[in-house]
Amino acid sequence: MKDINVLVINCGSSSLKFQLINSKSEAVIAKGLCERIGIEGSQMTYAPAGGEKTETVTPMKDHTEAIRLVLGALTDKENGVVNSLDEIGAVGHRLVHGGENFASSTLITDEVLKAIEECNDLAPLHNPANLIGISACKELMPNTPMAGVFDTAFHQTMPEEAYLYGLPYHYYEDYKVRRYGFHGTSHSYVSARAADIVGKKYEDLKIIVCHLGNGASVSAVKNGKCVDTSMGLTPLEGLIMGTRSGDIDPAIIEFLCNKENKSVQEIMSVLNKKSGVFGLSGDFSSDFRDLEKAYRAGEAFAQRTMKAFAYRVAKYIGAYTAAMNGVDVICFTAGIGENSPFIRTMVCSYLGYLGIELDEEANVKRGEEVEITTPGSGTKVLVVPTNEELAIARETVALL
Ligand code: AMP
Repeated sequence: MKDINVLVINCGSSSLKFQLINSKSEAVIAKGLCERIGIEGSQMTYAPAGGEKTETVTPMKDHTEAIRLVLGALTDKENGVVNSLDEIGAVGHRLVHGGENFASSTLITDEVLKAIEECNDLAPLHNPANLIGISACKELMPNTPMAGVFDTAFHQTMPEEAYLYGLPYHYYEDYKVRRYGFHGTSHSYVSARAADIVGKKYEDLKIIVCHLGNGASVSAVKNGKCVDTSMGLTPLEGLIMGTRSGDIDPAIIEFLCNKENKSVQEIMSVLNKKSGVFGLSGDFSSDFRDLEKAYRAGEAFAQRTMKAFAYRVAKYIGAYTAAMNGVDVICFTAGIGENSPFIRTMVCSYLGYLGIELDEEANVKRGEEVEITTPGSGTKVLVVPTNEELAIARETVALL
């Protein structure tokens, strides 16, 4: 195994998350976050392993400025973790949309940058920010190899019947309108871990991964390959999420435009930012910790919201069990999947037909890899904390 430090960068439109990971020990050497880039009140949080977390409020007019600050913090004489930028052997970028151009991670070249740009209209909020992150790193570390790891890549193995929509076929041919799926790095990492945990070959298993975070998606992984996933052309489709609606009747959009005298764009903004458990709870909260408390207090708005959320997850598990003609392992991951025994129990209460028997003691554990079903359970259910940064670092090193 190579022994280098990999800087993993995840650029959003006004934020930048980073981790410096050693490829040999796989230890996180430092991590942090820049927020409000290009907006008043920019702030960097920086945490070296074993050291003190610092928060610096300082102007960051763009992502180049943010990356300059990150590199400054990493090489700082007092709080830094490396002596110079030479000790950063590679940069791994999380990229949201690779369209059909990328079925795997890739080293970044000028040609690759052009192919990513071609996908910009598929992810207008995310891809341009990702590209800015790459060019900022190129400017500041021109000789350091960089890799792009796509959220969509893992799902490129889906068969045609899973990725095509029931639309005129020329929309696919002309505009590449199809299901792509997201959170691919997480679905790939978690499903592979699941095989290790149950001690079977990845290629011999049927696995369903429920990535339940603020954004949420389910995937079906058969014999080591993704065969279906709940997000679509964009991350709006599928499960009921923090603020995103997930699946709805597409006719609702026109209906609401007429009723509310709003444009399609305005209704789309409602579907992305005001819907999901936030909207369903009457704008109470998108955070499951709040919803869980309200549920236990007997609040009807929290009960309908959490029931609808869990029901949708269970419905997808049923669909993917059918798609794979069975399931061996079901995994829960991400913020809610890893931390909410309550939601896991609610989802599993629908899965009696799979012979699932929860181990109540194991199910209350948090944030660790654990099998939460009894030895006699018909199907195994696991909690597998996701680690997208480590997966990106591994992919990056593998490409060098
Ligand atoms: P993620 O997008 O994966 O970071 O997940 C974020 C979400 O996880 C938050 O919005 C919460 O709804 C949820 N979450 C985090 N911790 C807990 C917890 N202890 N119990 C229930 N939900 C949690």
